[in-house]
Amino acid sequence: MSKGKLFIVAGPSGAGKATLVRGLLAADSRVQLSISFTSRAPREGEEDGRDYHFVTREAFLAKVEHGDFLEHAEVHGNLYGTSQSWITEAMAAGQDILLEIDVQGAQQVRRAFDDSVGIFILPPSSEVLEQRLRNRGTDSEEAIVRRLANARGEIGRLEEFDYAIVNEHIDQAVRDIVGIVRAERCRVPAQAERHCALISSLKG
Ligand code: 5GP
Repeated sequence: MSKGKLFIVAGPSGAGKATLVRGLLAADSRVQLSISFTSRAPREGEEDGRDYHFVTREAFLAKVEHGDFLEHAEVHGNLYGTSQSWITEAMAAGQDILLEIDVQGAQQVRRAFDDSVGIFILPPSSEVLEQRLRNRGTDSEEAIVRRLANARGEIGRLEEFDYAIVNEHIDQAVRDIVGIVRAERCRVPAQAERHCALISSLKG
């Protein structure tokens, strides 16, 4: 079985990553989303096991000690991490995997998997970014101010990524990310592995 690809989606809070990821998952059933662990409290409407695995800070730190995370980072004052065992199993099953994580986590994953694909999501303007954070209505003023300040630092690391999508119109942005995933699957090394019998027979 050919190995699955690892896609990383990052970008500031309010860039619309979650909506874009939902659009990709709906359009492409071969992509599986990794559900992260977090010490953040659930927001209204969020479900344990669907949006995140919600754990206490102590339980999170115990998992760090135990080596359970492929990557982990503190973002906006909360801890977030990607399960190592889930990734190992999904990759062994040949699935394409999507991680929606911050820029620090993205850097750690790219060190471990140098053939992973980094996709950065940009908001169309600073005003829209702020508006989107406020419209969510789920974060305190303090959390919004912190997320806006962090956004500048995150955008400063854009060059570490392979692709950038400006999320102005969600339909167009979903088409862009679907196109990136499809193009990556058509890279020669991936196709040569997937279709080795066909290619050998065609070579004669
Ligand atoms: P939120 O609290 O808004 O759900 O997420 C805050 C930030 O944490 C987002 O930038 C999100 O991409 C990031 N994040 C979510 N899960 C993970 C993870 O497993 N690892 C890392 N490093 N960042 C994560």
